[in-house]
Amino acid sequence: MANVVDTKLYDILGVSPTATENELKKSYRKLAKEYHPDKNPDAGDKFKEISFAYEVLTNPEKKELYDRYGEQGLREGAGGGGPGMDDIFSHIFGGGLFGFMGGQGGRGGRNGGRRRGEDMVHPLKVSLEDMYNGKTTKLQLSKNVLCSSCNGQGGKAGAVQKCVACRGRGMRIMIRQLAPGMVQQMQSVCTDCSGEGELINEKDRCKKCEGQKVCKENKLLEVHVDKGMKHGQKITFSGEADQAPNIEPGDIVLVLQEKEHEYFNRESSNLHMTQRIGLVEALCGFQITVAHLDGRQLLVKSPPGKVIEPGCIQVVKGEGMPQYRNPFEKGDLYMKFEVQFPDNNWINPEKLVELEDLLPARAEHPVISADVEEVELSDFDRAQGAGSGARREAYNDSSDEEGGPHGPGVQCAHQ
Ligand SMILES: [Zn+2]
Ligand SMILES: [Zn+2]
Repeated sequence: MANVVDTKLYDILGVSPTATENELKKSYRKLAKEYHPDKNPDAGDKFKEISFAYEVLTNPEKKELYDRYGEQGLREGAGGGGPGMDDIFSHIFGGGLFGFMGGQGGRGGRNGGRRRGEDMVHPLKVSLEDMYNGKTTKLQLSKNVLCSSCNGQGGKAGAVQKCVACRGRGMRIMIRQLAPGMVQQMQSVCTDCSGEGELINEKDRCKKCEGQKVCKENKLLEVHVDKGMKHGQKITFSGEADQAPNIEPGDIVLVLQEKEHEYFNRESSNLHMTQRIGLVEALCGFQITVAHLDGRQLLVKSPPGKVIEPGCIQVVKGEGMPQYRNPFEKGDLYMKFEVQFPDNNWINPEKLVELEDLLPARAEHPVISADVEEVELSDFDRAQGAGSGARREAYNDSSDEEGGPHGPGVQCAHQ
């Protein structure tokens, strides 16, 4: 357990933690005069605090406990502390139990502020359509609320008794001396009250919550998914998390999870899609319709004369995702074209000659000298590899197999 250096008592006396006993004494006298209730009745508990600080810091045993373990050390080491101790502790250190537990709550208030409960975080799957169009959904969840029958007391008024064993803290700290000057500090949950810090008589226990102070309740939340919301974006319902006595409930936080879409891929406010067209569309122009996320049919045209190369990307401005909180502004839609080439032998050889006349001219014939070596070109089967060549490739990264070939030329091996 990490020790936070606590200098509060030194602060009260206005001295540094390295102050000598003389300095402490001097400072104490000065302050005690100034804040004595006879002289300064409005100073409240200031005088008590000064006296307490002085008493601790001039007692070598207590000072050592305080220097090592801070407030807890004192609470445990002071051997009960006697009447009024708790009072003065909370005046000085604030929040009692919660000041002590401060590390857990994160935002836990030390100065009398209520500790804040945990946030409840839930993922919420949302379709791309709903992020495009916006949607209101209802979400039911079960949470703890303060018992209405006992007002979160757990029993009749006066039935709740502070646990004696741990003095209401729920935890017990044991300081064991291992050797002179060496102390071990152990903290454990109080067994008498199971860490509750209080006990309720069986017969006085609230029937509804069985002394638990809270009951489960189903809560219906209305969730507004606004246009343009994104994956990972949070929707917060302030203070709607589990209730518990003396705790300020945390928030319910929904984290949007964008579901994968069949056609569209989102990249911030842009949409990406892949469109298959035939060779004739790629060469001679086309008109196609694309169903958008709001159900509209977009008519996409490419004029005759424009050539769409395989893999080329065209953009439709303003047909991407709406911007969050500014839904009339939209990103763009990127269409990547895949060109479906015809199958082998799709045309008879005579027609092929006619086609060749229509197509752009061939590249110039290469000069074939006498010492060329003719090789055979065969189909490449990705699953089987290309005969002995595959064995050589096996030395390469195995990811080649699924990643597909990256080199130029291989892409034309379609069936
Ligand atoms: Zn206890
Ligand atoms: Zn109850």
